[in-house]
Amino acid sequence: MLNGKTAVVTGGARGIGAAVCRKLASLGADIAIAARKCDERTAALEQELTEQYGVRVKTYPCDVSDAEQCKVTVKQVLADFGNLTILVNNAGITRDALILGMKESDFDAVINTNLKGTFNMTQACYRPFMKQKYGKIINLSSVSGQLGTAGQANYAASKAGVVALTKVTARELASRGVTCNAIAPGFIATDMTDAISEEATADYLKSIPLGRAGTPEDVANLAAFLASPESDYVTGTVIRVDGGLAIS
Ligand code: NDP
Repeated sequence: MLNGKTAVVTGGARGIGAAVCRKLASLGADIAIAARKCDERTAALEQELTEQYGVRVKTYPCDVSDAEQCKVTVKQVLADFGNLTILVNNAGITRDALILGMKESDFDAVINTNLKGTFNMTQACYRPFMKQKYGKIINLSSVSGQLGTAGQANYAASKAGVVALTKVTARELASRGVTCNAIAPGFIATDMTDAISEEATADYLKSIPLGRAGTPEDVANLAAFLASPESDYVTGTVIRVDGGLAIS
């Protein structure tokens, strides 16, 4: 379904990003992993995807909070693969604290990675997508951006910002056949949620109607749909993958 298409996945080395890489590769897409560092983890993922799915895979060192690195990465992906059709803005961090004690540096770090990073990569892909009159942009938001989770002022604000950015991008690029949608996961079992206390995790799990944490694959399945031509008439939306956590 995605043969001949290249996807760049930010923060693709682990967690949801790695699951998205695996899913898109299983559908035939070539994969550019944008990661803060090229290490054994990215090398192992490259080897796995190449051997298992026969696609081309390469890792690019890229800190998404740095606009210049994003531009260089996209330029290099285009030079190496000859095309780029899918951008998955997945890289994200948390630095939780109540507003009263939140450090300015932690507020800035989260906004710069989650929100500005999404903007930086979107801007870097804007012209190529516009020129080719096709492209799929998939942004990782969060139900925290809709619910306003206590202790996550920086994170929730960044993820609400991602929703606004998704809508703006969808409107600006619709006439060029480019779609942009956001996924809002709930509680997904990754390193990010491993950092949450056992008590808070138990509370989360109790409030999920489907009665379990999500898996990175649950999110990757939706990303695959949004990356495929089957979603060509879907743009500017936010779709929750949360087991019903945020049903209102
Ligand atoms: P992880 O912490 O498991 O992985 C995050 C990834 O982002 C890592 O690969 C990390 O790279 C990368 N990353 C962080 N900062 C940067 C940066 N500045 N530049 C490039 N890459 C960076 O998180 P998840 O897989 O759980 O989350 C993926 C996305 O999904 C995030 O945007 C997150 O906010 C969102 N999400 C996750 C939820 C969950 O429950 N897990 C819920 C809702 C949303 P490195 O290895 O170098 O640290």
